[in-house]
Amino acid sequence: VCRGPATIKIDRHNAAFCEPHYIEHIHRQIERVIDKYRMFGPDERVLLGVSGGKDSMGAWHALTELGYQVQAVHFNNGFGAFSEESEAVVRNFAEERGSSLRVYRFSDLMGFEFQEAVSRTTTPPCAVCGSFKRYHFNMLAGKLECRVVATGHNLDDETAFLMGNVLHWSTGYLRKTGPVLEPEPGMARKVKPLVRITDQEMLHYVRSCGVAVAESECPHAKKVTSHLYKRALDMLDQEMPGVKTEFYFGCLERMLPVAGPEWEKNRELGYCPVCGYRTMRSDMCSMCLLKSRVRGG
Ligand code: SF4
Ligand SMILES: [Zn+2]
Ligand SMILES: [Zn+2]
Repeated sequence: VCRGPATIKIDRHNAAFCEPHYIEHIHRQIERVIDKYRMFGPDERVLLGVSGGKDSMGAWHALTELGYQVQAVHFNNGFGAFSEESEAVVRNFAEERGSSLRVYRFSDLMGFEFQEAVSRTTTPPCAVCGSFKRYHFNMLAGKLECRVVATGHNLDDETAFLMGNVLHWSTGYLRKTGPVLEPEPGMARKVKPLVRITDQEMLHYVRSCGVAVAESECPHAKKVTSHLYKRALDMLDQEMPGVKTEFYFGCLERMLPVAGPEWEKNRELGYCPVCGYRTMRSDMCSMCLLKSRVRGG
């Protein structure tokens, strides 16, 4: 852009940037996605889930710089040193920038420790963690007066999720592919402003901006199959630059409009008789079921 020395090279855009122009480039990518999918405007309060990792911290920094109103929410699952470091990172950021942050502990919201949920049921830790976060983002969106819930899912997360769901033909999840999930009664609107940016690019971004992120890895991360899909997709993208973007946006533009309505028909949705949360199960929602199982011993 400026003919100054480039420090960051992005193969898939066939471009190299100096630091200030790289930051500008990332901001432009985020703005484009927010505008194109009409995610939110500068007058809306956005609930952003912040884990302390590079994606959510980068999103928090970028959205703040771009002038959006962010209400950050952090969940502490009580995973020892990892959780303590993550909480410290988000608290420091909020304090330094004067940003609005709420921190909730798993045990305070659920009435028991995460470990109890895992040892007393057959649900894998990441499934407990995922449904716990989704459930409480929805509940908190209403409570904190945010119409939109944003997450730091990036292009690599999204394509890995898509690949897993295509390999197993999980049409219930495939239906939910995309940067926006429209609201339904009792469910907030979900948006992913980082869908055009890769893991590597987000890492460069937080480093360029001097945003501190949690360095340690979640103790359950090794069991995550999405890592395998990410590796496979990286390999493909190296040989065929741009194939990740084509895979993801091709699904949104060419497959979902055709197959989506069909998958939608098979969807059975109800409301949880205990808490009123929208659920695909025929009885209690997954959080109420988890509570009753743990409490029932
Ligand atoms: S690795 Fe699993 S348990 Fe750890 S934060 Fe991610 S989803 Fe949650
Ligand atoms: Zn430049
Ligand atoms: Zn419920």
